[in-house]
This record gives sequence, C-alpha cells and structure tokens, in this order.
Amino acid sequence: MRSFTSSIRWRIFTFYTGLIAIAVGLLVAINHVSAVRMMEQVEGLSLQARMMDMLPFVFGARALRPIEEGGEGRQPPRGRGGPPGRRGEGGPDREEERARLKRMAEANLRAGVFAVAMRETNERIYESKNVPEDFLVPPALPFGERRARRTGEGYLIADSTTPRGDRLILGISMTALDEKSSRDLLNGVGAGLLVLGVVAGVGFVIVSRGLEPVGVIGATAERIAAGDLSERIDVGSQRSELGKLAMILNTTFGRLQEALQRQVRFTADASHELRTPVAAILADCQYALKKDRPVERYLETIEVCHESAQHMRSLIDRLGLLAKFDARDGTEQRDAVSLREASEYAVSQILPVADERRVRVDAECSDFHVDVRGDRLRLRQAILNLLLNAVVYNREDGWVRLRCGQVEDRAFVEVEDGGVGIPKEKIGRVFERFYRVDESRNGKTGGSGLGLAICRSIVQAHGGTVTVESEVGVGSCFRMELPLA
Ligand code: ADP
Repeated sequence: MRSFTSSIRWRIFTFYTGLIAIAVGLLVAINHVSAVRMMEQVEGLSLQARMMDMLPFVFGARALRPIEEGGEGRQPPRGRGGPPGRRGEGGPDREEERARLKRMAEANLRAGVFAVAMRETNERIYESKNVPEDFLVPPALPFGERRARRTGEGYLIADSTTPRGDRLILGISMTALDEKSSRDLLNGVGAGLLVLGVVAGVGFVIVSRGLEPVGVIGATAERIAAGDLSERIDVGSQRSELGKLAMILNTTFGRLQEALQRQVRFTADASHELRTPVAAILADCQYALKKDRPVERYLETIEVCHESAQHMRSLIDRLGLLAKFDARDGTEQRDAVSLREASEYAVSQILPVADERRVRVDAECSDFHVDVRGDRLRLRQAILNLLLNAVVYNREDGWVRLRCGQVEDRAFVEVEDGGVGIPKEKIGRVFERFYRVDESRNGKTGGSGLGLAICRSIVQAHGGTVTVESEVGVGSCFRMELPLA
C-alpha cells in the first residue's frame, strides 16, 4: 500500500484530482451564492413592485409627498383587519380603490406575501391575515430609501416610510426559497461529484496508460541488472518522452554490453598472450632439466627464458598503460609539447629498425613550430607506434613519410607508408585491443595487437582523434589530430 501511495501514478492522480475537486467545489459554491443572491434580488424587486402598487392605496397618494408640499395630515387609526381608507370615504372612487386594494391583498396572500401598515407611533393600521407570529418589525429606513433586506428571522422584506413616518412593510418567508436553494446546492454538489468521479476515472486511466512504459522499462532494467545484458526495452511505437528515454536506455545497455564483451575478450586475449611466453619458458626449462646438458644448451635455455620474460614484461607494461587510460589517468603531464620535436624523436628511434628492413623514412616537420598541450613522453610513444607499424608492415625498399601540419585550430601528424595496406573489411577494427589483421604475419613481426589501441588511448586522452585510410597493396595513412596548446 505504501509503495502504491508513493508511486508517481498515485501522486499525479491525487494532485490532478485534488485540483479538479477544488475547481469543481469553487464552481458549485460560486454558483450557489450567485443563485441565492439572484433569487433574493428577484424576490426583493417583486416585493418592491407590490409595495409601490399598494402604497398610494394604503396611505393615499398625497401622504407620500413631503408635508411642506401640502401632504395630507395624520390619519386616525382605522383598526385591524382591513386596509385603511381616507376621509370622505363612500364615493365611487373610494369604492374602486377599496376593490383594487382588496385584489392586491388577495394576490399577496396567494403569493405568500404578508403586509403591515403602521403609523409613526408603531400603531398598526393594517395587517394582512398571513403575518407570521414571529415577525418582528425591523427598524425603519429613512424616507426615500426602498430596498429589500433579510431579517434575522429569515424573512425578506421591502418597506417604505412616508414623509410623515408612516410605514408599509411587505414581507415573504424565505424558508421555502432557502429549502429550494439547499436542494439546488445538494444537486449541484451531486453533479460536481459526478463530474469529479468521471474526470478522476478518465484521468486515472490516462495517467496509468501514460506511465505503463515506466513499468516496462523498470522490469527490463531489472532483468538486465540480473545479468541478461542482451535484453532490450520494447520501444514499440512510442513517440513520447518515455519512448525516447527507452531508446536512450537501449543504446546505453547496448554500449554496456559491448563494453562488457570487450572486457571479457580483453581478459581472454591478455591471458592468451601471456600464456605463450610462459609456455615457452616452461617447455625450455623442462627440456633443460630432464638430464645433464652441455653449458651452451643451458645458456640457450636461459636466453629463451630471458626473451620470453622481456616479452611478458613489455606486454604487462602495455596492459598497465591501457588500464591507466581506462581509469582516465593516463596523462599526468599538461606541458606545451612541440609536435615537431616529438616526431623527430620518434623518427630517430625508428631509423635503426627501418635501416634493418631497408625502409626509407622521410620527415617533413622541420618548419612546423606549433605546440600542443600534453604529456611529451606519451605523445612520442603514440607517434612511434604509428612509425613502427609503417616500417614493420612495409616491403623491402619501401618508404614511410611523416608530415606535421595545422588545420584551423588543430595540429596533425600523418604517417604514410607504401606498405602492405589493410583490407577494407578489417580497417574498422585495427584500433581494437589485441586485434591483428593477419595472425600469421604478426607471428613474424612480433606484434601483440596493442600498438594502435595504445596510440588511440593517448590521442583521445589529449582530446584528439586518430584515423586511418588504407588500400591493400598500395599503403596506409594514419593521421592523428590534436587541439593546439
Ligand atoms: P601490432 O602490435 O600487431 O602491430 P597494432 O595495434 O599496432 O598491433 O596494429 C594492429 C594491426 O593493424 C596489425 O596487426 C596490422 O595487421 C595492422 N596495421 C597496423 N598498422 C599498419 C600499417 N601501417 N600497414 C598495414 N597494416 C597495419
């Protein structure tokens, strides 16, 4: 349960549903308040209209005018039970007025409106039959002010005061209307809950479907973590951000798998490379120890052991160097290094080997005076590895040319040869560790397949690149590019 409530799906769902609940609640509340207000206004206006109709008949039109303008004097009380009349009653006009007032009173009764007319002294001169018992006459409004208002007892009243202080009050009980608005509110809340339920349900389905790939990604990642690196996330037709994430993860898993496979291959190759000299040492020692041999034979055995041990040491040194680069601390130095000087040093080191193999080496670097930043010894080594290959994989009376130069903000060293070349299908693998194009030929050259891997690690550690172009029977051209100091 806890893991469910802490899940992204649950959080999005509760947040989204909470927001919608607040919005729906606000809408229902605003709707209710405005409906109640509108109802009160409509009822108030209707009360005021009735009151304006009644007012002249209750107090007489002249009574409404201010006294200074010649309004009628104070009327004597007429008693309860019927609308008040004026002096000189009994004429035909008077009869008609009475009849109209009666009709109004009846219409009020039907509409549930009650009426009270009173003198300034609070003496009631008229009171309709339906005045509620708990109705308390509220304080009078000033003359001229006519507005409907609610009393504390739940009545909506409209009252009017004549210039003389007489009052006519019309009122209606709000109980029925309040009940209606409560019912409307309940209906509104019900409808709101229904909308909320539907929106929440749809939202939950959308969120669940949207997050489905996360579950798939998690399950696949778990299987991969358990050791099956060949597993991939089923991206399907996902074009969403999660689809992109799945693709990125698949690429990452692919790289991880490749790295692991490289690592496994590397370990196997390293042990294979070390096994050969160890086997040679063991075989020679066993042979020498089997019986007494002449001193020369022992010397030969020691020589073979020495050579094999040297080969192992060189291999171990190279492996150690590659491991350092893998740990990203292969280049400690960050000096300004002259590529011309590094190239000339490498050429001077290779010349004895080249002479021995009758390969001519030319260097075109003398007027190149640009520095790169890095480790002098390592850069010399990278150039030397390229030169060594160019001489070793060459032909008798062949040639090697080394060139330095600059293209924009990068310096380059190019080692070109007219040697055996590399087949197209193998060219992409020559920088791999322990990769050799031709195993039989390499047996003769004594290479271990680490020279170019080391060269690439050095160049990459300096922020550069190394590339190759080659054609079988024509020759090869290796080019390393480095950023300027
Ligand atoms: P190795 O120690 O075997 O020379 P490298 O990593 O230096 O290992 O080279 C990998 C392989 O690439 C070599 O075995 C060789 O077949 C091929 N190679 C490298 N440089 C050249 C070159 N200049 N000409 C032809 N083949 C080359």
